[in-house]
Amino acid sequence: MQIAKYPREKLGAFPTPLQEMPYLTKALDGPRLLVKRDDMTGLAMGGNKTRKLEFIMADAKSKGAEVIITGAGLQSNWSTQTAAAALRCGMKTVVCSAGPKDRYKPEEYGGNMLLQYVLGAEVRVFPVAFKELYERVFVDVAEEMRKKGLTPYIAKFAGSTPIGTLGYVNAMLELTHQATIQETAIDYLVTATGSGGTQAGLILGARALNTGIKVVGVSVSPTDKVAPITPLVNETAKMLDVSLTIEPEEVTVFNNYIGEGYGAIYKDVVDTIELVARTEGIFLDPVYTGKAMTGVIDLIKKGYFTKKDTVVFLHTGGQSALFPFKEPIKAMSESKTPPWTKSPWGLW
Ligand SMILES: *Cc1c(COP(=O)(O)O)cnc(C)c1O
Repeated sequence: MQIAKYPREKLGAFPTPLQEMPYLTKALDGPRLLVKRDDMTGLAMGGNKTRKLEFIMADAKSKGAEVIITGAGLQSNWSTQTAAAALRCGMKTVVCSAGPKDRYKPEEYGGNMLLQYVLGAEVRVFPVAFKELYERVFVDVAEEMRKKGLTPYIAKFAGSTPIGTLGYVNAMLELTHQATIQETAIDYLVTATGSGGTQAGLILGARALNTGIKVVGVSVSPTDKVAPITPLVNETAKMLDVSLTIEPEEVTVFNNYIGEGYGAIYKDVVDTIELVARTEGIFLDPVYTGKAMTGVIDLIKKGYFTKKDTVVFLHTGGQSALFPFKEPIKAMSESKTPPWTKSPWGLW
């Protein structure tokens, strides 16, 4: 396996820190907890998409791209990171967001909407499901760019393609190297799982290096995660000449911490965000890491993780979303009825 066979744009500041969380460990009275700070990747506001984009942007450059066509939901961390990455490669971005058109209010909601506005990304909003966004909208917009004389590059699935997944194989290399230096034997690595590329890369890295680290995903949205992750691991393995394949049974994803859906907040998540902030001074986010850590806390209660284990929590970023969620966070924290739990910018 030689990841360096594939070109990489240096967009982030790596390695990100691997830190102990002694106060959270004490508060939960469970396994030794550490955090891998991929919220500190150093691109725009940081986050897991930086690692994927290092390989994706290099691919775009090699194809002569001038404009990146991408997008996900409104308030997408991926879209913000992509817009910033594109600027650092001398390219523009058209962000095609799936969401209610009348709810695109960067000035009102702040968060990633504001950041994309400040970055000068062209944002267009389409009230369609992700499938249609990827299969029709991106293709149409790319064609429009070609007609304008620009070379477009389509970046789908929030970077959860084999090329993007290389970023998290690389992250596993980085983590095991750090753990060796820090004399830390890791039993579990936990990540929030959305489109699955992060978990897929980690699984492949853990297996290819024969680390024995068990990679656990906590799902943040109701679609099946195991189905896309399995082939993503296997295809990325082929790209790297790693002769291994995995079966769906080897992918561990917990689906019971999603709540009412993607981008819907609930009281446990608010409690978790506050607990981690008030023990370790680390901010989690309501959409991804808050739910993943809620999973960790519950899995400690259920005895899945025990005091004998060392568990690394991958902080995938996303804190920009704290601000647009300020109303439900504050209300739930004070045990009052929140004005909403399903984000008003979601397609519900
Ligand atoms: C996108 C994202 C994830 C999920 O990563 P996937 O590779 O899509 O599964 C987790 N956390 C944050 C903050 C994200 O933005």
